[in-house]
Amino acid sequence: MSIKSLLEYARMPQDELIERILSKKEELDAVIFAHNYQRIEVQRIADFRGDSLELARKAKELDAKIILFCGVMFMAETAKILNPEKTVLIPDVQSGCPLAAHASADDVIAMKKKFPNYAVVSYINSSAEVKAVSDIICTSANSVKVVNSIPKERGIIFLPDKNLCHYTKTQTHRENIVCWDGNCYVHDRFTVEDLKDARGKHPKAKIIVHPEAPPDVQEDADFIASTGGMYRFAKEHRGEEIVLGTEVGMVERINDEFPDTSTFPMSEIALCSNMKLITLAKVARSLDEKIFEVVVPDEIAERAKIAIEKMLAL
Ligand code: SF4
Repeated sequence: MSIKSLLEYARMPQDELIERILSKKEELDAVIFAHNYQRIEVQRIADFRGDSLELARKAKELDAKIILFCGVMFMAETAKILNPEKTVLIPDVQSGCPLAAHASADDVIAMKKKFPNYAVVSYINSSAEVKAVSDIICTSANSVKVVNSIPKERGIIFLPDKNLCHYTKTQTHRENIVCWDGNCYVHDRFTVEDLKDARGKHPKAKIIVHPEAPPDVQEDADFIASTGGMYRFAKEHRGEEIVLGTEVGMVERINDEFPDTSTFPMSEIALCSNMKLITLAKVARSLDEKIFEVVVPDEIAERAKIAIEKMLAL
């Protein structure tokens, strides 16, 4: 097939793009993963949607030749590290995670020199290079379990999200954790005012916020949960009202799958522009041209895999 410009794909009607994606997926023996923060039309064509932990686990179990990852780069890298024999594609190479960019491998090595006997716990939202110099990886769904797996007397360097670190410290009652000074620009912008406004508008709703939200917002919420936890809560509380303090894609997913549940965003401007870079047009182009292939150098992948698998084994 001739190489089409992205503009040509973008001009195709949505139905045609979807048909094209589904038939090409079959032809190539590909599976499509979509993170909960993807555009809803991208989530709908995915074989699996979920949070970082669910998608990392699923990537390990699969039998397909190609994984097309609709998410940000660290997620696609994680899928590649766990599946070195599979081709992993990402529809837009610009879709990096600004939170992950808060820590480089050199920064982590310098920090380890400052705190020599500390264990390095890295949030999955970190580059493959950072994972390679970490002891263990965690997600927002299992950070407490991961930290509890490390002997109490051993200090921990927790990176790169300071708010998830605060949450984990509070839940584990450990003071010997050094928090990195990074944040997610989408979640860190939530304020107590946003939460109060949401309570005013939806007085019957349970308010659930992500642990990447600031500590004062976490304190005033009814629950704190990862997007996987939010999904399970909505599934188990059908017909109820819920307000979510996270990226709006999660709200769209829940309203899409459980239309009998009224789920509202805590802020309508909680949008991750990096996640939204992936469009149906880019997904179609990615499958047609088998671009962009995610490559992780072997020596980095091998070390990063040890840290990821330690988490998966818990
Ligand atoms: S929502 Fe935050 S943590 Fe997630 S990809 Fe966007 S910037 Fe990164």
